[in-house]
Amino acid sequence: MKGRYSYDPYRYPSDPLRYCTLCRGKLSMAAVDGRRRKVCGGCEYVYYRNPVPVAACLVIDRRDRILLVKRGVEPAKGAWSLPCGFMELGETPSAAALRELYEETGVRGRVVGVHGVYYEASHRYDTLVVAAFRITPMTQGVKAGDDAEDVAYFPLDRMPRLGLATHRRVLGDYRRRG
Ligand SMILES: [Zn+2]
Repeated sequence: MKGRYSYDPYRYPSDPLRYCTLCRGKLSMAAVDGRRRKVCGGCEYVYYRNPVPVAACLVIDRRDRILLVKRGVEPAKGAWSLPCGFMELGETPSAAALRELYEETGVRGRVVGVHGVYYEASHRYDTLVVAAFRITPMTQGVKAGDDAEDVAYFPLDRMPRLGLATHRRVLGDYRRRG
């Protein structure tokens, strides 16, 4: 099926599904709502694919320092990044941000605003949507969680290069807009 639909989910390793998980029917590609999608030949279930939501934390302390974690897992393992993680089912975006923050850094925080919402291309998930929150730390001290190698606050003029492009954009927007 070539032509007007350039997007082919079969190309993506994140979507190896070939049989219906509901009825075990064989999946085939069909145009649904203007995009090629997998549709079950047995029960006609449409396998919609959507971006995966991520919550990211822009934690700013009283001295205008930013809280970073040294990532212990891919992608960007070993690089500094903002605390972040996937939202869970039934969890509000801001609750996801505060949970990830505590898990990765030991910091309890308070969401003070939405910094921005970002698009991120992902090899594994194809597309992520990153909701970045402004957060004020409510506790002193940091403690690296299982997924982090290190945690520290950095002044803006001594920030290491962040390993994830979206996080660099979050920080760039903060430098420009305050
Ligand atoms: Zn089916």
